[in-house]
Amino acid sequence: MIDVERIRRDFPILGREVYGKPLVYLDNAATTQKPQCVIDAISEAYCNVNANVHRGIHFLSQQATDMMEAARDKVRQFIGAGSTEEIIFTRGTTESMNLLASSFAQAFLKEGDEVIISGMEHHSNIVPWQIQAGRYGFKLKVIPVTDLGELDMDAFSAMLSDKTKLVSITHVSNVLGTVNPVSEIISKAHSYGIPVAVDGAQSVPHIKVNVKELGADFYAFSGHKIYGPTGIGVLYGRKELLEQMPPYQGGGEMIKRVTFEKTTYNELPYKFEAGTPDYVGSIALATALDYVQTIGLDKIAQYESELCDYAISKLTQIPGMRIIGNSEHRSAVVSFLVGNIHPSDMGTLLDRLGIAVRTGHHCAEPLMDRMGIPGTVRASFSFYNTKAEIDTLSAGIERVKCMF
Ligand code: PLP
Repeated sequence: MIDVERIRRDFPILGREVYGKPLVYLDNAATTQKPQCVIDAISEAYCNVNANVHRGIHFLSQQATDMMEAARDKVRQFIGAGSTEEIIFTRGTTESMNLLASSFAQAFLKEGDEVIISGMEHHSNIVPWQIQAGRYGFKLKVIPVTDLGELDMDAFSAMLSDKTKLVSITHVSNVLGTVNPVSEIISKAHSYGIPVAVDGAQSVPHIKVNVKELGADFYAFSGHKIYGPTGIGVLYGRKELLEQMPPYQGGGEMIKRVTFEKTTYNELPYKFEAGTPDYVGSIALATALDYVQTIGLDKIAQYESELCDYAISKLTQIPGMRIIGNSEHRSAVVSFLVGNIHPSDMGTLLDRLGIAVRTGHHCAEPLMDRMGIPGTVRASFSFYNTKAEIDTLSAGIERVKCMF
């Protein structure tokens, strides 16, 4: 079992008050809070080992390089990848998806081709493809979302054809909480020889992910959503595909030899890591992953699922409550609307009670259009949240209702 009270003491920010009320932080899908060990890892790296990586022959540079490369290996192990050559450090999921779209499109896509995404994607798995579609002339096909908030898998199967060159799909919806059947999607796509990219921003922090077992060809996630620092993220890519893809950005680190006539590129993964990387970020990300593993992802998934079930049972007792997204397969996100109360009014008033939730379209405007709503209020959970906090949320909603 999870010892929540002990875990909460690892997170200094959870002890603070806002507006004179104890903070109830339920905005974990946007970003997670940081345990002291991650804060210390950042401080320790700057206090004791700071030096630019890869290019230096001096002691500190080599030590920083070793720590960054050890962090890469930690990420590899955490997501079950075969080789560190397949782990590219980026700024986050958004940069991972932009890198992928830009480089994959240049290597593999042309007019007449199709890329399949879904109706529940975050903008970062829509817009990068639209930008590249404008350049290379391929078409985007969108898997419809059912009223329950699940992917229409029959429609997906019917979309696959020899025109399809990639499927790019979110593992867990940041709005609906739906856990998509990515294994099934991958095996269907692979039966046509089509690679699959997975946006793991909302899955990696909550469920055990093994890219090899899943068979994912690409997998992206953000450090800050898994208790690590902002500004660091990961793109996993299968070596065979990455090798055929051109660099995303040019500059230092990503080259082997530069002349004015011709440049040859570095090997993987450095070909995709132009410029000074966020080595401190990667070192602290590794600390965050260690921290999560110490608690254990199985325990995290089980505890968060209990929290989520509890939240749904509490919230659905409130008259006028409408939960958006009712899949049985869900992760630690609950989106809702109450009566005619605008989500931003609800969020603002809950904030005054010390409760941090997110409101709006959650960077998923096409999904809002599909559901016919302007936005939602979203409570998203972490293993440091408690049932008592959900009671506070529920009481807060009742109070806001009384004001309308
Ligand atoms: N994909 C999903 C499903 C997300 O929830 C988010 C962030 O909320 C992103 C992508 C983008 O992540 P980031 O802003 O860390 O790049």
